[in-house]
Amino acid sequence: MTTSTTWSNWAGNVRTSPVALEHPASTADVQALVARAAREKVTIKAHGAGHSFTSIAATEGISLSLSRMNRVLDHDTTTGLVRVQAGISLHELNPLLKALGLALPNLGDVDPQSVAGAISTGTHGTGGRLHGIAAAVEALQLVTGDGEVLEIGPDHAWARAVPVGLGALGIVTEVTLRCVPAFLLEAREEPAELPDLVGRLDELADDYDHAEFYWFPHTEKALLKRNSRVPSGTEPRPLSRLRHWWDDELLSNTVYERVQRVAARRPSVIPRINSVSGSMLGARTYVSDSYDVFVSPRRVRFRESEFAVPRAALPAVIAELQAWFAARHELVSFPIEVRFTGADDVWMSTGFERDNAYVAVHQYHRTDPTAYFAAAQDVFTAHEGRPHWGKMHTLGSEYFRERYPRFDDFLAIREETDPRRLFTNPYLDRVLGT
Ligand SMILES: Cc1cc2nc3c(=O)[nH]c(=O)nc-3n(C[C@H](O)[C@H](O)[C@H](O)COP(=O)(O)OP(=O)(O)OC[C@H]3O[C@@H](n4cnc5c(N)ncnc54)[C@H](O)[C@@H]3O)c2cc1C
Repeated sequence: MTTSTTWSNWAGNVRTSPVALEHPASTADVQALVARAAREKVTIKAHGAGHSFTSIAATEGISLSLSRMNRVLDHDTTTGLVRVQAGISLHELNPLLKALGLALPNLGDVDPQSVAGAISTGTHGTGGRLHGIAAAVEALQLVTGDGEVLEIGPDHAWARAVPVGLGALGIVTEVTLRCVPAFLLEAREEPAELPDLVGRLDELADDYDHAEFYWFPHTEKALLKRNSRVPSGTEPRPLSRLRHWWDDELLSNTVYERVQRVAARRPSVIPRINSVSGSMLGARTYVSDSYDVFVSPRRVRFRESEFAVPRAALPAVIAELQAWFAARHELVSFPIEVRFTGADDVWMSTGFERDNAYVAVHQYHRTDPTAYFAAAQDVFTAHEGRPHWGKMHTLGSEYFRERYPRFDDFLAIREETDPRRLFTNPYLDRVLGT
């Protein structure tokens, strides 16, 4: 991701030329780098895996990778509390938790993200009774703009503000996560029809641990995924290596990349491609470690915008997107992903005090997503949508003040931890104000 003095994100739509790229190995190193940034009057920001589609992690000042700060520091299998260095990736962490008999309660679709990056933007998976990863934060250590090291535990006044901190409050150096006993999931994946799914939204959100679907635009075809916890003692029944390779590597990545290239050159074939894609992935059932089921390889590059809307608004949101597709303003080759989470108490989380449905729109990286994402954003904002902080949108601070009841309280903390705005960038100036 990083070469000498240039940095770009996974999607390739954000590129910066920081004055320095640094790899601190300790909290003391981070303190020294923050002091250097203050001395040199440049900004300083940490990045994780660069998996945000927005420029939230970008800086032209000092860019930090905490990839050397990737250890599990402490654990207690009775309480499930695990202390990690903030740069550890979910990919590194999941098997280490398994070895301790523990797991994160829920995960998103991929695992390269760092723990700090994932929590800072409100990364989430699906489950109407579950929450994003930041809700599992019990405590964290933060280096502030004046180089102070703060430990923010569950009784601290800022405890529910700092987990989704957008990288605006300081550099997170350690995180304590409240984990659950390791568990297996039974994955059931099958083709479905969109009208049927829309009629069963509450059932999907309430009756399954983790349900989501992918809807193929310009068709009524969808792929439904339901992952349910199995009773302890159940034996794993993983996919055969051949089936895994066929479905998850060949069809979902290798062939899909070629299909997307064709679609980008000849958009008129997109409805036909979507219809075939919606039928190609057959039904399958398997039982495996939770993180193995949640996470899939994603090698086809795309851009993404995702909003949380109140769960009750989802049928109207889908109908309005259908109307936009029907008008053929643009032909869209990537499926729309629909997920659910329950209300949480993290101030800047898209799930703050609200049961949500998430609707994610994607576009192949060689196709300009601007008009499509703008149209989708109009639909989402008409239903009180809250965008994922790491996924594309064009909204500013006045919009967020209306959508987040604790917005000004969050800004007051930023004033204390970063009065000189060492940790800001143009994205944060837009969404939080200067
Ligand atoms: C292929 C793909 C799949 C995805 N799937 C999902 C999904 O299923 N669900 C979902 O919710 N999101 C998903 N995302 C989005 C992704 O999870 C978030 O954007 C996440 O923030 C990326 O983590 P990262 O480690 O790459 O952080 P970055 O993108 O590098 O940084 C994100 C933010 O965290 C801050 N940050 C990083 N480290 C620190 C630190 N140590 N201290 C303070 N701030 C820090 C950065 O400054 C920035 O503000 C996906 C993205 C991609 C590309």
